[in-house]
Amino acid sequence: MTSQRLVIAIDGPAGSGKSTTAKEVARRLGLGYLDTGAMYRAVTLAVLDSGVAHDDPDAVARVTRDADVAISLDPDDFWVRVGGRDVTGEIRGARVTENASLVSTNPDCRADLVRRQRALMDAAPRGVVAEGRDITTVVYPDADLRVLLTASPEVRLARRRGDVGASVSAEQLRTQVLARDAADSKLVEFQTAADGVRLLDTTDLTLDDVVATIIDLAQEGRP
Ligand code: C5P
Repeated sequence: MTSQRLVIAIDGPAGSGKSTTAKEVARRLGLGYLDTGAMYRAVTLAVLDSGVAHDDPDAVARVTRDADVAISLDPDDFWVRVGGRDVTGEIRGARVTENASLVSTNPDCRADLVRRQRALMDAAPRGVVAEGRDITTVVYPDADLRVLLTASPEVRLARRRGDVGASVSAEQLRTQVLARDAADSKLVEFQTAADGVRLLDTTDLTLDDVVATIIDLAQEGRP
């Protein structure tokens, strides 16, 4: 590592391993970690709790604009708060997961969140590893390294099963992974790598392999 800032952007579908990977890369390189999906989830919770009509995009955008979302950039101490309340666990529940498209399909909400994400990334003193769906293409196309992680649908379902445990039915898991990816990919392209974005298929790789590959790529060409 040098004293230069380093920004790494990682995109990918649900279950591609991007959160675990991004967090571990950040830890090993001493960088901040930004989970942009957690920001969409936090705003989704604010919208659900606000009681505004889901089919009123202006109202959803208004709640988004007013939502006081704070998020940790520390890979070893991750938390998310809305209006000062800790929502780190609550935003992983089915209620939020299955309603995230309320926010992610709303262009005003996206613009607002993209602006906040850039500001957080710019403020990270040594740099940051940020992950989501549109980091490599929209939020931070000038990142030092941009990576798209993919994995087969079977492997993505199995990884998500490991995250959620037995409480979720097979049907619900498919909705939360495959149907959500299908809906999300109508908004932003994260299934094929844009120009200059490195594609990494993690289907047959361990977490350690993926992390090591990303660290090697990040250090390529650096003094
Ligand atoms: O990554 P995660 O599964 O936590 O993201 C939750 C939802 O937030 C996604 O399903 C997607 O709709 C939205 N999202 C997005 N753009 C991002 C990150 C997440 O649209 N950069």
